[in-house]
Amino acid sequence: MDAIKKYDKKLYKAIVGEQKRQQENLELIASENYATDAVLEAQGSVLTNKYAEGYPGRRWYGGCEHVDIAESLAICRVKKLYKAEHANVQPHSGSSANMAVVFSQLKFGEKILAMDLACGGHLTHGHPLNFSGKYFRIIPYGVDRKTERLDYDAILSLGKKHKPKLVIAGASAYSRTIHAKRLREVCDKIGAMLMTDMAHIAGLVAAGCHPNPVPYSEFVTSTTHKTLCGPRSGFILCKKKFAKPIDYMVFPGLQGGPLMHIIAAKAVAFKEAQTERFKKKQIQTVKNAYALSEQLKRLGYRIVSNGTDNHMLLVDVFKSKGITGKEASAVLDKARITVNKNLIPYDTQPPLVASGIRLGSPALTTRGMKEEQMKYIAGLIDVVLSNISNKKKIREVREAVSNLTKKFPIYKSRVLL
Ligand SMILES: *Cc1c(COP(=O)(O)O)cnc(C)c1O
Repeated sequence: MDAIKKYDKKLYKAIVGEQKRQQENLELIASENYATDAVLEAQGSVLTNKYAEGYPGRRWYGGCEHVDIAESLAICRVKKLYKAEHANVQPHSGSSANMAVVFSQLKFGEKILAMDLACGGHLTHGHPLNFSGKYFRIIPYGVDRKTERLDYDAILSLGKKHKPKLVIAGASAYSRTIHAKRLREVCDKIGAMLMTDMAHIAGLVAAGCHPNPVPYSEFVTSTTHKTLCGPRSGFILCKKKFAKPIDYMVFPGLQGGPLMHIIAAKAVAFKEAQTERFKKKQIQTVKNAYALSEQLKRLGYRIVSNGTDNHMLLVDVFKSKGITGKEASAVLDKARITVNKNLIPYDTQPPLVASGIRLGSPALTTRGMKEEQMKYIAGLIDVVLSNISNKKKIREVREAVSNLTKKFPIYKSRVLL
């Protein structure tokens, strides 16, 4: 980064500071990861200079012969990865992918059955301030109060009662397998379409660690930067018969020029996701989340739904320790353990306070950590949450974190300044 270093000292310091933070902290935010060097290279390439409105072979601009290759590679690879009939790799993010699907199929005011945000759903699944909640009639489904898992029969009853046009599956804070097959049956019974938003679990699905929703869903949307470990972006997969309306809604419906450097980085990530190495990492990601969850249980914590099938878990810190999610995440931050506060199902606390914290294993697994480190980290978390006003104890944990992260460098080829 010599050019930035010379030209813009303030910005340079911020970037270096962030790189240092990523190296020195324990990253347990379930939606984050460390993109590979190859992904970062593609993102930082000259492809950022190119306008390419349209699609490969059908552009509104000249000189697209090279970026056409990048986009075609991305499309071809992602279709192969998930066995999809059609792919659009232009959405700038997971949210814009969701918007494109919904706008392409529904008129304003039509009904969507989607997972309640308070039970783990995403903003774009019906938050009143989001396009989804503003322009469509959202019928939320939750999880069973006892098992804290999806209750497919309850979803079917809601569907029968309200007759939504679209059912949205997928979540940002749900630690159990989502059975798209069961939701397909629901949709067939009520005459609805199914959109599965696999943003969080896309890497697990690619590796076969979570059932692939593609055969059961008219539409599958995703981000590329979570378990999939690519650049910050999104994509849409759909059945062939929806290819045209989806492509037209992404461009020119919602977006202008595609980000060709990001599309190139997606092509890299989709190639990496086909490797044995990637598969092994996803298997380890699931094992690590399980190890973290089991050790926290041994230490007396209540885990929502009593565990995890995937890369994340929700810890009910309010029930376990009498502290809120907000307090827990703030004090863990002091020990350089990065998590986010999160509502638990049927939470009694307001959203900005919350009773839980969400923990994810993807970033630490990318660094090379295994079950042994997860158990150790569960212990560190427990020390902090059991001593929230004890500065000395928190300092000791911070030192332990520092010793641990030193052993697991994130970008071996990048010099930390
Ligand atoms: C993260 C996420 C998104 C949105 O992704 P952005 O790229 O941040 O817009 C959409 N859906 C789900 C379920 C997510 O977890």
